[in-house]
Amino acid sequence: MISLVQHPLIRHKLALVRNKDTGTKEFRETVNEIAGLMAYEITRDIPLKEIMVETPLAPCMSHELKKQIILIPVLRAGLGMVDGITSLIPTAKVGHIGLYRDHDSLQPMHYYAKYPGRLANAVVMILDPMLATGGSASEAISSLKKAGAVSIKLVCIVGAPEGVEKIEKDHPDTDIYLAALDEGLNDKGYIIPGLGDAGDRLFGTK
Ligand code: URA
Repeated sequence: MISLVQHPLIRHKLALVRNKDTGTKEFRETVNEIAGLMAYEITRDIPLKEIMVETPLAPCMSHELKKQIILIPVLRAGLGMVDGITSLIPTAKVGHIGLYRDHDSLQPMHYYAKYPGRLANAVVMILDPMLATGGSASEAISSLKKAGAVSIKLVCIVGAPEGVEKIEKDHPDTDIYLAALDEGLNDKGYIIPGLGDAGDRLFGTK
């Protein structure tokens, strides 16, 4: 299932990150803000459990999140979405996955993976601002399934139809969330119109 998360605040902020004249500081802040707003919408239907708390005046039946939320940023651009979500969900645990594309086989290869325990009972959100070919995202989902994750949400800011198609084919059970679905990929694998290289813009490496 693919969902476009298009709250007016998200669309407003998307214009800022798409703009080539937006500098590193504002780009980084805005990517985090978009991620937080997306997480707010995406978690709308996550399960709660009832708990009793004591107010200063009386006992009160209340609620807390039933499931652990686990964030898995795909290195390195996914890191740019973590703080925006943990500021809303401070109990979220954070794992990491690093992938590179092998020059010969063109397949995504792991160079790093460290996940929190109890993936099976958690809501796992894989974070990557760009869903381009879908190769890394598909590999990240496979890796997390192998490690025991069952409820997986792929959270990207901008996606290309090619990437969406790959995830829907490889992992029809994974929910995809995008703030925008763009036209497609150019011959270098960049999303058009996209926002450029998210990692470089987040970390000021170009
Ligand atoms: N990764 C990026 O950072 N940007 C794109 O457009 C595609 C992949």
